[in-house]
Amino acid sequence: MSFAFYTHPACLAHDPGAGHPECPARLEAVIEALKAAYPDQPWREAPQALRSQLARVHDDALIATVLDTPLDGTRRLDPDTVMSAHSREAALRAAGAGVAAVDTVLRGDLRRAFCAVRPPGHHATADTAMGFCLFNAAAVAAVHALDAHGLQRVAVVDFDVHHGNGTQAILEREPRAMYVSSHQWPLYPGTGAREERGVGNIVNAPLPPLSGGREFRRIWAELLLPALDAFRPQLLLVSAGFDAHRLDPLADLNLEAEDYAWLSAKLVQLARCHAGGRLVSLLEGGYSLAALRESSVAHVGALLTD
Ligand SMILES: [Zn+2]
Repeated sequence: MSFAFYTHPACLAHDPGAGHPECPARLEAVIEALKAAYPDQPWREAPQALRSQLARVHDDALIATVLDTPLDGTRRLDPDTVMSAHSREAALRAAGAGVAAVDTVLRGDLRRAFCAVRPPGHHATADTAMGFCLFNAAAVAAVHALDAHGLQRVAVVDFDVHHGNGTQAILEREPRAMYVSSHQWPLYPGTGAREERGVGNIVNAPLPPLSGGREFRRIWAELLLPALDAFRPQLLLVSAGFDAHRLDPLADLNLEAEDYAWLSAKLVQLARCHAGGRLVSLLEGGYSLAALRESSVAHVGALLTD
């Protein structure tokens, strides 16, 4: 199986401040666990996304806020979203990882890739950085696949415990894209009701607090995977947040690493059926280091299986 990881040291240097849950130790834990579990798999350096690639989904004002505003110490973009010295480059590398992985997979040089990056992206809308997210790397990658590569159908699959309001808002009027999400509800950011359907290309499956693997697997098997199957995506992008794990301190679902392995294997199967096996996954949330380690290893293990 041709596979690669993408990351960059700038993603470790992005520092939202002492005590912030979206801390550099998260990504250190993921990278260490993946290197220990899969020592033979290659790591590639994530390039910086181009402004023109960001501008396909983000307003000029947001791009300028993140990239051009002089930074004297730290700057708070919303109550949870803080920039410091290395945040600008981290955001560019996180989005650039997704773009580079899509380019490589669509050229046929790799079948699948996992982008071990931060800050996360799926809450960032066209014009607003929020919820720890600066640029929406998954949406940038999806629209890159459509506009730069001419794909007709790209799916973004989001199993982070929070709804990806930004990804949904960016893609909800784009019939060439599908966005499907399972998430705890009620929970931040408050979007993701079943009634939110976009142009028929959005499928949301909210789960009540304390739901576990049984409920999670049921909504994927009965609702979300069949919707993806009917859409026949030519490329799967995954917003891989691991904060629905039972150990996560920010949410109240009860998944185990095996549940991530189960869904990831289903997604690989779907990619093989419709997309020539092509799947690019990007790290989103996950705030328990132990859960991040075992869940990312379980997820990537499925991506490495032919
Ligand atoms: Zn999350």
